[in-house]
Amino acid sequence: MAPVEERIETSRRLSDEAKFTTCYMCACRCGIKVHLKDGRIRYIEGNRDHPVNRGVLCAKGSAGLMTHYSPARLTAPLLRVGPRGAGAFKEIGWDEAMAIAAGWLGSIRASDPKRLAFFTGRDQSQALTGWWAAQFGTPNYAAHGGFCSVNMAAAGLYTIGGSFWEFGEPDWENTRYFMMFGVAEDHDSNPIKIGLGKLKGRGAKFVSVNPVRTGYSAIADEWLGIRPGSDGLFVLSLIHELLKADKIDLPFLARYTNAPWLVVRNPGGADDGLIARDFAGRPLCWDRTHDAAVDATSADAAPMMVGEFTLANGQRAVPVFQLMAERYLDGRYAPEAVEREVGVAAPVIRRIAAELAHAAFEEQIVLQQPWTDWAGRRHETITGRPVAMHAMRGISAHSNGFQSCRAIHLLQMLLGSIDCPGGFRYEPPFPRPIPPPVKPLGESQPDRSLGGPILGFPTGPADLLVEADGMPKRLDKAYSWEAPLAAHGLMHMVIHNAWKGDPYTIDTLFLYMANMGWNSAMNPGETLRKLTDRAADGEGYRIPHFIYADAYFSETVAYADLVLPDTTYLERYDCISLLDRPISDANGAADAIRQPVVKPDRNVRPFQDVLIDLGTRLKLPGFVEADGSAKFPGLYADYMVNHQRGPGLGLLAGWRGKDGDKSGIGEPNPKQLDKYIANGCFWRHELAPNQRYLRHANKDYLDWAATMGFVAQPDQIVLQVYCEPLQKFRLAAAGHGALQPPERDRERIARYFDPLPFWYRPFEQDPADGEEFPLHAVTQRPMAMYHSWGSQNAWLRQIHTGNRLFMNRRKAEAQGLVDDDWVWIESRQGRVKAQIKLMEGVNEDTVWTWNAVGKRAGAWNLDPSAPEARQGFLLNHVIAELLPAQPDGYRYANCDPITGQAAWYDLRVRLIKAEASEKPETSPRFPPLGRPSGLPSPARILRYGAAFRGRREGGS
Ligand code: SF4
Repeated sequence: MAPVEERIETSRRLSDEAKFTTCYMCACRCGIKVHLKDGRIRYIEGNRDHPVNRGVLCAKGSAGLMTHYSPARLTAPLLRVGPRGAGAFKEIGWDEAMAIAAGWLGSIRASDPKRLAFFTGRDQSQALTGWWAAQFGTPNYAAHGGFCSVNMAAAGLYTIGGSFWEFGEPDWENTRYFMMFGVAEDHDSNPIKIGLGKLKGRGAKFVSVNPVRTGYSAIADEWLGIRPGSDGLFVLSLIHELLKADKIDLPFLARYTNAPWLVVRNPGGADDGLIARDFAGRPLCWDRTHDAAVDATSADAAPMMVGEFTLANGQRAVPVFQLMAERYLDGRYAPEAVEREVGVAAPVIRRIAAELAHAAFEEQIVLQQPWTDWAGRRHETITGRPVAMHAMRGISAHSNGFQSCRAIHLLQMLLGSIDCPGGFRYEPPFPRPIPPPVKPLGESQPDRSLGGPILGFPTGPADLLVEADGMPKRLDKAYSWEAPLAAHGLMHMVIHNAWKGDPYTIDTLFLYMANMGWNSAMNPGETLRKLTDRAADGEGYRIPHFIYADAYFSETVAYADLVLPDTTYLERYDCISLLDRPISDANGAADAIRQPVVKPDRNVRPFQDVLIDLGTRLKLPGFVEADGSAKFPGLYADYMVNHQRGPGLGLLAGWRGKDGDKSGIGEPNPKQLDKYIANGCFWRHELAPNQRYLRHANKDYLDWAATMGFVAQPDQIVLQVYCEPLQKFRLAAAGHGALQPPERDRERIARYFDPLPFWYRPFEQDPADGEEFPLHAVTQRPMAMYHSWGSQNAWLRQIHTGNRLFMNRRKAEAQGLVDDDWVWIESRQGRVKAQIKLMEGVNEDTVWTWNAVGKRAGAWNLDPSAPEARQGFLLNHVIAELLPAQPDGYRYANCDPITGQAAWYDLRVRLIKAEASEKPETSPRFPPLGRPSGLPSPARILRYGAAFRGRREGGS
């Protein structure tokens, strides 16, 4: 008998083909390799060469195929045929859909372009959408940053010229001490996980400051379960201790920040608190060598850091450093004075301050790396203070978030740990000038484009978008006296303001990928009421037209008049641009694309293509040639390659120039996308070792940044301990200057626009409410889900099909509550019912839940009795859009008064045990949504991959 040959196939070929693209299962933008079999997606793996994830793929990323094949995908353009919210639509063709949209938008543009409100959600194409809105001529444009983390972005850009989030990172290789404040697990996710792994492997200390010990906090060496909204006070207390112990980096402050700049001291005067300047507008410092005021930006200045000086024009002035020391050495910032408010014991605060000082100054790093400073002086080494920090929504989503984030940046500057070895590091194109030299635009006129970017960075009252009487020019009131530095707009107020006609009514609301009918609304019930409220004549709606573009049947779809179905992220081109939210890292600049991996099998179109088509139909400037023909007949792929923002400056920085041999600036290259695809869909430029640190003052880096268009001039970027633009607003509030706030806003501006970081209690946390609503309530992001997208994914739903209200065990026991009890969560806004789960790792006065797991029955094509709709709940139902009324009856938005950031986490609640007779399910529950035409019936069991296995076992 012939011997049997054993064959084991150790590496079976599972796919016919693999294509690189970029993941979109969260905001992190990892590189992926998508394997295809018989034209269908077989599986997804991480791209090992990709700079973001180095092959790492999270649960969401690998489950992407279940989102791609989700039964919740919209299948065709839809026109509403019943009342809003009823879900009655008829399918229409794209020609009809585009004609309807162009008809509505065309008449608005011809009469009053601002009557279009165009806001986008968690898309990654703002370099296109913002430009489109500007060409249309409406100032009413922004993406979702206003309700996400604009406080982080704005505080960083007004202070250090960069920010946390995905625009900077800890020096994972060198830091010895890492503090993380309130970070969601869906931004910069894989880089943070990889970085934490490195850090823990080296034995560096990781301190997590977060009311909840979950996610990253679970592996922290020390968890500080802080009281929500008190982080700024905690940080200022650390600063108090460091100043007291003289553990600060004075040379860093003198060389790289405005700490030595002189501030005019003239109480009551129009120049009080402004930076003292020379005839050419240059800031002054007091030079110890010449005993005179000199240009503070001069390389030779030897500044005094304390003292009071008389300038040549008679002004009295003191250095910023002195103002800072006077403020933070005050006893009200002593650990004992803050411990109760913060929820961290005074000895712990004191110890953390000592540990920070030890890491920064006793464990300093000296790199033998020559570099040249902005003044052309060569240095043989770079000194590093190996303390790094990172912060996100936990800081941001409070009404004191801007100042709290500024406090963290101040702490970093005092320790000298900005862009140094072991510290926080910028990611190109940051650092940018402080603030970036772009002013917001808001002057809309019929048939005119705005002529520049819509969003920008005011430096004083003259840059606000207000009418002569102080009324806001923008619908969301961004850049008005109510939110002067609203760098990302206030998307969360758009529907309310449009409904109320405050400051004016609109004609068309145009939203993309923003679930404003549910989890993206501060209060969904209120939002749905406003979307369905009838006009006074009873004929139409108060918001007359609503166009919505999304790939999925989210809760918002049922409320739209016209639905434009988008593709999934695996069916289209996308551009992750340096002009928007790039994927750079600290050692290099990078951008990326998505390419279509499979063709749509439904009558859907990429939204970016639709927008370019609309721009062409409307004949918007930039979208058509002189003869009226389409400028981008190849739609978004064409635009990505051929659109130029300035000479040679386009959306993609790699392989520019006709031969593809230029980076950054260069004429369009028709083969650019092929180059990206051949390179795994990304481009990256590695910085030389002498360009990697202290980039705010590094000549070699700044010279390169100027050639890339990141900065106009290779000048030093001076970090701003003292934020002079804030003082300009305060002076206006005090009655100085031609532009002053309306009476109602004066006190608010005067109080909150402090040029030095300070802490105030979040607005909802008035001590008078403390007894009525004794608990803080916040949400957290689960690692396995990204906003509302996760709940349509059959694999990820197995991890979270419902959400509990998590509560401190001791606190619960004191209230007689046990695991699984149903409770009513009550706030001043309303109440919602949830089931509780007890835990130890949460601040005693805080309850929390996972964000966006709760669903409206029927939405996302889930079975109406799905656990997400019965047990899942949204905390949003008890969050208020507006603050309590002022004495004159006016109600401000529930936001940070400086940036307009939605104050989601200011919420205060109380818990009431539900009656035993009550149904064990959440409340309120809204009527189930009917399934739009074209969607399949929800399957009882969703499975994927069995077909592949069947063929394999059958030998085909
Ligand atoms: S971290 Fe985000 S982008 Fe990266 S693989 Fe996971 S879901 Fe995709």
